[in-house]
Amino acid sequence: MKAIAIIPAAGIGTRMRSQAPKQFLALEGSPIIVHTLRKFVGCSLIQEIIVPLRKTDIAHFKSLMEQEGLSDMVCPVAGGVHRQDSVLNSFKEIKDESAIVVVHDAVRPFVDVSMIEAVVREADNKGAAILAIPAIDTVKQIERNRVVATLPRDKIVLVQTPQAFRYRLLKEAFEKALSDHFYATDESCLVERLGYEVVVLRGTERNIKITKPADLPLAELLIQRERITSTQSLN
Ligand code: C5P
Repeated sequence: MKAIAIIPAAGIGTRMRSQAPKQFLALEGSPIIVHTLRKFVGCSLIQEIIVPLRKTDIAHFKSLMEQEGLSDMVCPVAGGVHRQDSVLNSFKEIKDESAIVVVHDAVRPFVDVSMIEAVVREADNKGAAILAIPAIDTVKQIERNRVVATLPRDKIVLVQTPQAFRYRLLKEAFEKALSDHFYATDESCLVERLGYEVVVLRGTERNIKITKPADLPLAELLIQRERITSTQSLN
């Protein structure tokens, strides 16, 4: 089985209110995206990684990949206006129609390699697989500042990446989304709306999407813990 990863990294990161886009902020000396890429490079099922970026970040990213010795495996491409455009631009680079395509946010560096493997294997078996964790808070649907509905919490999950799909399924989903001018915040939604089943696997609370300034202290703690755990397992 061949799996190809798409790691969208073309966002501006307005919610982080930082100078650099959040995927390039440093954690323990390396940009967040480098931590994320190391996880995918460490997964034996992944053969190639495509990274959509803002055009202005491509030269800097290429030199980062050279420093890291990852240039052979990581292919930068131009991103688009929306996340979905960035993923689609990357998808168009894939030539192998038998591949499993796994999409993962550049700003989720705490994904476990075992989770990447799990979604890829499940997508190979069933067509599509995503990660999610149970909702802890009560979730309400609102309009302006008025409640419209309270959603039953036991039926709600919070969805993460990686999300994996058979190439042909994702191709069909992108084609339909394009012809309907439909945009979503994850790729699973594009597949769901065609009526295909998407398997949900249990994610981890650690697999956070670093988005707001308040996420950075937690990210620092998690990266220290990963370093300590990996040093202990080497000893
Ligand atoms: O905006 P959101 O939080 O959904 O971004 C998730 C990921 O998608 C981030 O890694 C971001 O860099 C990426 N993205 C992208 N192209 C865009 C917008 C976001 O690749 N136009």
